[in-house]
Amino acid sequence: MSETVTDYTARADLLKEKIILVTGAGDGIGREAAKTYAAHGATVILLGRTTAKLEAVYDEIEAAGGAKPAILPVDLSGARWEEFEYLAQGVDQEFGRLDGLLHNASLLGQRTPIANYHFATWQQVMQVNVNAAFGLTKAMLPLLEQSAAGSIIFTGSGVGLKGRAYWGAYAASKFATEGLMQVLADEVDGVSNIRVNSINPGATRTNMRATAYPAEDPKSVAAPADIMPTYLYLMGDDSIGVNGRQFNAQG
Ligand code: NDP
Repeated sequence: MSETVTDYTARADLLKEKIILVTGAGDGIGREAAKTYAAHGATVILLGRTTAKLEAVYDEIEAAGGAKPAILPVDLSGARWEEFEYLAQGVDQEFGRLDGLLHNASLLGQRTPIANYHFATWQQVMQVNVNAAFGLTKAMLPLLEQSAAGSIIFTGSGVGLKGRAYWGAYAASKFATEGLMQVLADEVDGVSNIRVNSINPGATRTNMRATAYPAEDPKSVAAPADIMPTYLYLMGDDSIGVNGRQFNAQG
């Protein structure tokens, strides 16, 4: 069952001294989440495939007086297990633990019937949206265990809760994402300080939304900043004890 916490208000220092990794941090919702987490006191680790975009977010965070972020330029479509291990070693050496992991990076793939869907595109979407999220989670789990209260947030979608024609691998990948969230949440339940939940952002003004709905007026949908209450709630200690649940970031 979906839940909402859209009226949540975070205190200014909610994420003070927390180390939080955000994937797809260079643009769209991930960029907003990284900046919002930094504005609430976190040291953010910016992971994404376009270094120039990550550097721009880095500069914005520094200019706003946030803690110095870290940048991890990684293309998740080609990432192998060894690379995730290597990333975890780097985070371990730099910070010694991880308090939060926001799986946000995703590919849209094609909007076309299954009968026409390209096999290679299907594999690429599943690689970035599901396999990479699994690999990064597995690699980071020991570091999340070092946190007093580690939070993992997966990003779902409406078409990952109820399938819809022409959404192909993207929809299937988001169902898989909910499945991964639920399995891991059940595994950590009662035996770990880690909690695991998912957010369906809802229609949000980003490049991905514009690609999926080219005829839509972008101003008619929420801005990334509008949906941050749910991202803050699940990342901060106010959600300790909340585990295995699926949230809609819009009402
Ligand atoms: P965007 O396409 O605007 O941003 C996605 C980010 O992920 C970009 O920074 C992109 O990098 C990065 N990314 C994509 N592929 C890779 C890769 N192979 N390796 C590393 N980084 C990668 O999407 P949104 O901000 O709209 O979406 C964020 C999340 O929210 C996604 O999980 C999406 O499925 C979900 N969502 C979005 C909705 C919406 O209406 N916007 C609705 C429902 C769910 P780069 O900038 O370099 O391209």
